[in-house]
Amino acid sequence: MMIQTTTLPGLPDLTPGSIYCIGRNYAAHTRELNNSIPDTPVIFTKPLAALTFDGIIHIPPFVTKPHFETELVVVIGKQGKNVPVEKALSYVAGYGLGIDVTARDIQQRLKEKAHPWFLAKGMDSFAPVGTFIPAEQVSDPQNMTFTLDVNGERRQTGQTSLMLFPIPVIIATLSRYVTLYPGDLIFTGTPEGVDILNSGDRLKADLESGLATLTVSVNRES
Ligand code: ZN
Repeated sequence: MMIQTTTLPGLPDLTPGSIYCIGRNYAAHTRELNNSIPDTPVIFTKPLAALTFDGIIHIPPFVTKPHFETELVVVIGKQGKNVPVEKALSYVAGYGLGIDVTARDIQQRLKEKAHPWFLAKGMDSFAPVGTFIPAEQVSDPQNMTFTLDVNGERRQTGQTSLMLFPIPVIIATLSRYVTLYPGDLIFTGTPEGVDILNSGDRLKADLESGLATLTVSVNRES
């Protein structure tokens, strides 16, 4: 499937564009990985090849520590450059959930060399997303709860109110450097509780009790 020609689930006018991600955007998660609290947003990208809607995360055999990171995903609805913070939410078309799949073993090795962690985050299917809800149906995106259950057990709970850099600041900051386009996706960071993905795991993420959901399973290739 050529992902570029597929519309975003729940937002039929939009095809996926660039995938931006924010690292270390929740203090408790930042501490659990022994990282320092950033004073500006930590921004990285994933390639479009990482995006998947088909519900399976494929982990290559050489990855030893694949981790889940459950994140609110913001979809951009109109083109913007130098977007002011006060107007930033008007550039959002919708919200959903995604898993920022991370090969923690590879990321650790890259961090030690001060190299970009692209390969640890950017493999095929390392950006599964679920259904999106149009922005008009969300009254306050900065006051939402999302959860992740793995095999029926609660593993992560996120409160968007706890973001170190709220969505408008992320959009304003990003758009100082790059033009945002309709269909661009922004993964906004994970709360604490990240852990290993095992083959056969079934992940179910939920935003505000069914407003948006993501269901995905794990295939660790041997
Ligand atoms: Zn992340």
